[in-house]
Amino acid sequence: MAKIFGDTEIDIVTVSKELRNGGIVAVPTETVYGLACDALNENSCKKIFEIKERPFIDPLIIHVLDISAAKDLAYFNDIAEKLAEKFWPGPLTIVLQKNPLVSNIITANRNTVAIRSPSHPLLRKLLAQSKIPLAAPSANPFGYISPTSANHVQDSLGDKIDYIIDGGECEIGLESTIIDLSDESFPTLLRTGSISTKEISKCINLPIIEIDTKNNLVAEGAPAPGLLKNHYSPHTPLILLDFNLPCQKKIDEQDAVVLFNKSNKQAISDHKNLFWLTEKGDLSEAAHNLYNLLRNLDNKNFNKIFFEKVPNSDLGKAINDRLEKAQNS
Ligand code: AMP
Ligand code: MG
Repeated sequence: MAKIFGDTEIDIVTVSKELRNGGIVAVPTETVYGLACDALNENSCKKIFEIKERPFIDPLIIHVLDISAAKDLAYFNDIAEKLAEKFWPGPLTIVLQKNPLVSNIITANRNTVAIRSPSHPLLRKLLAQSKIPLAAPSANPFGYISPTSANHVQDSLGDKIDYIIDGGECEIGLESTIIDLSDESFPTLLRTGSISTKEISKCINLPIIEIDTKNNLVAEGAPAPGLLKNHYSPHTPLILLDFNLPCQKKIDEQDAVVLFNKSNKQAISDHKNLFWLTEKGDLSEAAHNLYNLLRNLDNKNFNKIFFEKVPNSDLGKAINDRLEKAQNS
């Protein structure tokens, strides 16, 4: 089992030393828990891939305290500067041309690097204390549901790592929005998240190119790195449904049904194993609860999980994207 640390000064100092010495530590962020190491230490970065069983073709995001620290790792352009000023610290990852000192392990041999400045106060303390950039993918085995609490990390990786910092439940609960700005003329959305394309577009006064994540292709047909079709998946088969349409699937007693909000949908209102993401239909609450609910259901012995699509507006798009990728049947 990993040792759990909190937010006392001695905890922060101890964990910072561990990171500076090449150690691996699970850390809280406002999006999901990350598995962090010194981004400039190649061996530690390799270990992260091994612990997660993550393929080396899937690049890591580097977490920094501020824009100035990001500029040591990547070449900023005007729109990157604008977006970082508006949305950092926060859940926006920016992909830019990399500085040669960033290892090819992190970038999966690309000439670009993904960077963000997180807002979680505990992680910020750790970045300030350690004075190093932290490479940190989500702290889960590759392909499984991302962790949104220290317990989730302990459950899935506790026997493979030594340290977890407990910063409470992740406020947002979904991975960051990723925008590729490596070519200033073509800002491209690589992953949906809680910051919408509308907000990004408004800030830089440019349209955003959206990748077809379902077919895993960018506009010109090249595969997008890391945008794998199946991801975030529970072991129990998950099936997305639209309960406003006549239900085509047979739902058994041994199946769980998850609705967007607590409501009386005629077709399944008397189903025994009925759950919902949010009491009153709040998308932020739904995102916050999503991975915890998926993990809880996956630990019960349901045959299948039937999941209702959420309304497909801003944050709803990001939730539906994760649910589509979680469909493993
Ligand atoms: P995560 O699994 O949450 O750590 O997110 C990592 C994701 O960021 C990858 O799967 C890629 O989709 C994206 N990413 C990271 N680095 C790059 C990069 N250099 N170019 C494009 N996408 C990247
Ligand atoms: Mg991940």
